[in-house]
Formats: sequence, C-alpha cells, structure tokens
Amino acid sequence: MRIGFIGLGNMGAPMAQNLAKAGHTVLGFDTQTLKVEMIEILPTARDCVEAAEVVITMLPNGQILKSVADETIQYMKEGSIFLDCSTVDVASAKSVAEIAKSHMIIPLDAPVSGGIGGAKEGTLTFMVGGQDEGFIKAKELFDIMGQKAVHCGKSGNGQSAKICNNMILGATMIATCEAFSFADKLGLDRQAMFDVVSTSSGYSWSMNAYCPAPGIGPQTPSDNNYIPGFASDLMLKDLTLSQIAAEDVNADTPMGELAMTLYKSFVEKEDGAGKDFSAMLPRFEKKNRN
Ligand code: NAD
Repeated sequence: MRIGFIGLGNMGAPMAQNLAKAGHTVLGFDTQTLKVEMIEILPTARDCVEAAEVVITMLPNGQILKSVADETIQYMKEGSIFLDCSTVDVASAKSVAEIAKSHMIIPLDAPVSGGIGGAKEGTLTFMVGGQDEGFIKAKELFDIMGQKAVHCGKSGNGQSAKICNNMILGATMIATCEAFSFADKLGLDRQAMFDVVSTSSGYSWSMNAYCPAPGIGPQTPSDNNYIPGFASDLMLKDLTLSQIAAEDVNADTPMGELAMTLYKSFVEKEDGAGKDFSAMLPRFEKKNRN
C-alpha cells in the first residue's frame, strides 16, 4: 500500500517504520525537520496524502488534527482512508470524520495503548471507531503496528474507549500508590503487600503488570527511577479529555475527576512533569494525612 504518515514523533516514527519494514511505501510529513530511516519525508502534507491509499496521523491534539484534516482531506483520493491514531477529544474525532465523509474519504479514529515501547515493537492495541468497511481495509496495517485492534463502533468510539480505559487506569494507579504508601505507614512489608494484593481481589494491571514500587513485581519504570514509560503529563492529558467528554454527555465521574485533579497538581506543582505516571507512589510517600 502507499501510505502517507503525518506526525513522525515518538510514536509516529516507529509506527511508520514498522509499516515500511513490512513492505509498504511510506511517505512522511512533519512540521519539524527530521530524518526517519526507511521513510521518505516530503515537503508538504499535501504531497504526502495525494496518491495515498491510507493517510495516518499521529499528532499532539485535536486542534492540530483538525487543522491537518482541513489542509489535507480535500487532496486525498476518493475511497481512501483517513486513519487518525492520535489521542484527541471525542468532539474533534467526530468533526474530522464528518469532513472526511463529505469528501468521500473513509474516516477511522484509532487511538492506541502501549506507549513508545509498543510502537517500536509493533505491539500496540488499537481502539477503532468508524465504519466496518474502513476497519476491514485497515486491519492489515493494525496487525503490523499492533497486536490487537478492537472495532468499537461508530466514529468517535475509538476515542471514547481510550478515555474510559485511561480513566480506570489513572484512578487505579492512584489507588495502588496510596495503598502502598499506607501499607508502609502500617509497617507492612511491600513484597508481602504485593504477594497478597496481586493474587487477591485488589489486583489490577497497575499492581500486577506495572507495579509502582521499585524492586517488586515485574520490571517497570519504577525500577528505572520512574523514567517513562507512560508520562504523568500524558495521563493528565487523557484524564482531562475524559472529563471534557463527561461534561458533554452529563456523566457523573467523580473518581475520574479526582484522578485528573491529583495528576494536575502532580504535574504542575509537585515535580511530576516528565516522570512516569506510577511516580505517584513517591509523591504519596512524601505526604501525610494532615
Ligand atoms: P510527539 O510530540 O513526540 O509527536 C507529535 C509529532 O507531530 C511531532 O513530531 C510534531 O512535530 C508533529 N506535528 C505537530 N504539528 C504538526 C502538523 N501540523 N503537521 C505535521 N506534524 C505535526 O508525540 P507522541 O508521543 O508521538 O504522541 C502522539 C500522539 O499519541 C498524542 O496524541 C499522544 O497523546 C498519543 N499517545 C502517546 C503515547 C506515548 O507514550 N507517547 C501513548 C499513547 C498515545
């Protein structure tokens, strides 16, 4: 396939490279001047999309996505696919889908879970919103860039699935970290705490697969001085998107809201910026109840 890839940052570059390694022709565009092995970088976004069967975007936010969509979709081939893998607000995903449909382009919103490691290794999970036709055509590409693609329904549903997942993740990580810090104060050994919880009803991905306590459980960012991994800043972004969407649909999400408030304070006031989202544990260690 001929693929146009827009946004070759931490995630986009390795995703594009995996597609090229699998034999696809990948033409890239980014507003930064950069070199990505195996990818031909073109001078404009328009050049990148004109003859492409699929255009993939991996961009920072919904506003940028909308401006790139406005700039490019009109030049895409009829029947080609506009596949956005960025994490953006549900409203932007829906509005880009409408622009695409008005030009006879098939839109898919397909945010990912799995981070930079998953992008490099081709083990991402895609949560996909859009019509069956698009999902079936793009499946071959999801299989190269990831290990799983779930079709979640109509346009916007990929983003909805992503923010629901990350709202659970953010709240669960905070609960896991506060429980470890609480256990410390109770005089409970961390290994004993892990051995019990990871095999009891308090278990979760945050505890079992991504344990925030250094030296306990599998190797995680906590064993590497909390270098991300998945940065607290990105968790804050996703929790903020979840609360914007919750407001839009009038959903009561007090746990998600509190998780957002805690990550906001961690990132903006408590030295959490640039640290893995599991660094909530040392944050709790420094705090007392009063
Ligand atoms: P990044 O900042 O490394 O990459 C974004 C790229 O987009 C940059 O190279 C930037 O120059 C480029 N860009 C910005 N505006 C552009 C424009 N108008 N036209 C073309 N290129 C433009 O970010 P990232 O870490 O690769 O994340 C990309 C997306 O993936 C985000 O939406 C993020 O929330 C999501 N995501 C990231 C992770 C992660 O662990 N990094 C995990 C899951 C999802």
